[in-house]
Amino acid sequence: MYDVVIIGAGVVGASIARELSKYKLKTLVLDKENDVGNVTSMANSAIVHSGYDPKPGTKKAFHNVRGNSLYDDIAKNLDVEFKRIGSLTCAINEEELEVIEHYLPRAKENNVEVKLLNKEETKALEPFISDNVIASLYAPSAGIINPFELTVALMENAMDNGVTLKLNTEVIDVTRTNNGYIVKTNDEEIEAKVVINSAGLYSDKVARMLGIDTFEVKPRKGEYFVLDHFNKPFVSHVIFPTPTAKGKGILVTPTTHGNYLVGPSSEWVEDKEDLSTDKLTLDAVRSKSSTLVNNIPFQYMIRQFSGLRATGSTGDFIIENHDGFIVLGGIESPGLASAPSIALEVVDLVKENITLEENKDFNPVRRKINRLSKMSEEERNELIKADPRYGRIVCRCESISEGEVVDAIHRNAGARTIKGVKKRCRPGFGKCQGGFCEPLIVEILARELNKDPMEIKYDTNEAYILQSETKGGKK
Ligand SMILES: Cc1cc2nc3c(=O)[nH]c(=O)nc-3n(C[C@H](O)[C@H](O)[C@H](O)COP(=O)(O)OP(=O)(O)OC[C@H]3O[C@@H](n4cnc5c(N)ncnc54)[C@H](O)[C@@H]3O)c2cc1C
Repeated sequence: MYDVVIIGAGVVGASIARELSKYKLKTLVLDKENDVGNVTSMANSAIVHSGYDPKPGTKKAFHNVRGNSLYDDIAKNLDVEFKRIGSLTCAINEEELEVIEHYLPRAKENNVEVKLLNKEETKALEPFISDNVIASLYAPSAGIINPFELTVALMENAMDNGVTLKLNTEVIDVTRTNNGYIVKTNDEEIEAKVVINSAGLYSDKVARMLGIDTFEVKPRKGEYFVLDHFNKPFVSHVIFPTPTAKGKGILVTPTTHGNYLVGPSSEWVEDKEDLSTDKLTLDAVRSKSSTLVNNIPFQYMIRQFSGLRATGSTGDFIIENHDGFIVLGGIESPGLASAPSIALEVVDLVKENITLEENKDFNPVRRKINRLSKMSEEERNELIKADPRYGRIVCRCESISEGEVVDAIHRNAGARTIKGVKKRCRPGFGKCQGGFCEPLIVEILARELNKDPMEIKYDTNEAYILQSETKGGKK
């Protein structure tokens, strides 16, 4: 019997798993996907919001602000890149200025430092801002993080500290017993004292397995452009428009790896699996973003993607303990920024059902990653001397070596697919989008996992790369 079963290995489930690994517990994480962080946690704006804007007194406000404050330590311990670059929420007319001024007392109540900047001050801080912008609200504590790397790192560290992860495992029912719950999956029944429903878009469906129908989760899609990194200066802050009832609006931001994101749109969709992008929506993203930032270099666009916000019907995060069945619902934005703080509240809720004993062996530090592209020539030479696989570059766009790919496969919560390798160490993220490195990644995955290359998948279990032998060649 497990003490705790967590349903969902997104950034929230992984944060909870790591937090629970600080205690002597038998914890299991289940996810229906073949990798951690494969749903909303990998398709978002990657901003650790400052938290000036959620309504004071809500769970969103509390967890955003506390979550933001926890990120320096988390990023340092888990060796994940995190940069506090600050955000500018811009007004382009008098009405918008009035709206952003309204956020000044709200920021104070949420205990978040902000400063109202006039046109000249905004331009001095961010020269790429458009002349349309008449003022901005500067929030220095906002940051950017790599959300896939973060989710993987949280789960890896949780596993290093004793948590078990089971992927490709869909929870299809949960029932109450005398001393806990039975979690029925596609291949077994698992007993647990406490069950945590961190199923993102499907948290309403999982809650209904135990008759909880007090909320609904509807998917709200956001579409983006990704721009390549380039050697010219461009925006160095997160640039937001004035927020509206639809949310924070279309932003322009650097990423931790020097790329840029432009988006997201905001449209309700019916299907919780609909990750399509369309020209009309992206044209609107392009024109709206251009009212805030001058000359966005769309010629460097290398990809478009979309993510689905798990918008709950209550307007706030739902975090409730139903007699050892802990429900997390409506964890839309700022869910990434809030995840470390939500995990702390969940641990308090677990304490209502299980007496927790500290795990004195808990190690918060993840083994360091050798990132060749970030090393000095001297450091690289030393590493290559010790392990020649770091001297074989497999992805030229992002300068990623075979050694980095092999390491990403063999860590806890390691990569099993091409997308899994891409999420962890970036081959395929550059200009060629995997055109050159993908065959090499297939070979390395097959070799390291002792599989036939035909078995290697791109992302989902149906996404085979190789289908049959071609003329004269093998596979
Ligand atoms: C367009 C967009 C932009 C955003 N921007 C930001 C931002 O900049 N900053 C910010 O703070 N937040 C942002 N967010 C929100 C943030 O991404 C989410 O709040 C966060 O990723 C939610 O994490 P999660 O773990 O709850 O959900 P998920 O990542 O969706 O994880 C849930 C997991 O549960 C699994 N699951 C579901 N059902 C089952 C089942 N029956 N059995 C087993 N497993 C199951 C899924 O496979 C999935 O892996 C954004 C979201 C979107 C869509």
